[in-house]
Amino acid sequence: MRPDADVHEVFRLASLGLSKAEVARRTGVSRAQLRSWLAAGLAATLASPMRAGSTQHVGDVCERRAQLDEAAYAYLLGQYLGDGCLSLGPRGVWRLRISACDAYPGIKEEIASAVGAVLPGRHVGYIGRQGCTELYSNSKHWICLFPQHGPGRKHERTITLEPWQEAIAVNRHPDRLVRGLVHSDGCRVINRVRGANGVSYAYLRYFLTNESADILQIFESACDRLEVEHRRNNRNSVSVARRASVAKLDVIVGPKY
Ligand SMILES: [Zn+2]
Repeated sequence: MRPDADVHEVFRLASLGLSKAEVARRTGVSRAQLRSWLAAGLAATLASPMRAGSTQHVGDVCERRAQLDEAAYAYLLGQYLGDGCLSLGPRGVWRLRISACDAYPGIKEEIASAVGAVLPGRHVGYIGRQGCTELYSNSKHWICLFPQHGPGRKHERTITLEPWQEAIAVNRHPDRLVRGLVHSDGCRVINRVRGANGVSYAYLRYFLTNESADILQIFESACDRLEVEHRRNNRNSVSVARRASVAKLDVIVGPKY
């Protein structure tokens, strides 16, 4: 059996746009083999019964996925969809990277603790950037947990949740998913309006801004589940403005901290 690293290398080269013949030539994997891998997708190939045991995958099920802390996962999925990405390192180990704004140290800690709950015992690293910090964690399983990874930027490809992700994040823990999304790509703003009588008053609104229509739609599904009213105020933005809905989001999300 080919090692996982070969599988990852095939997908990496294919994602660069190399032809199947060229990928076969560079990796030594037969064309028939790599065609079947590419057709199945990376997560399914790694999780195939043939490879069971090599990365704690039993049958078609990733052991880590089967033992998920669902609430933490739903939050982390929101963060991943908002401002996270995967990259492939040596020996088939994936790095999850999530960018957190330095202005909100509480959110940074919340991301780190969600990573720790999703893959217990995993080291969380920090890399300082301009105005933000990149949190990272290495594991072969990140690709099993975030199969949305693919070539190109998120808004340039289709982002669809797998049924098990939808069950966890949209159906069972929509509050955690919404919290993760708003913490990464959203904001809570106070609008001040001067009324006809000259008295100014303030009201709160929430926004989620993302270039991916698919990600906005995932947010909307979670809001529907929570009976939070929303509308597209812009091509790339969803707003929540109704008082009762804002009050719900204030319980679920609240100000960034
Ligand atoms: Zn796995």
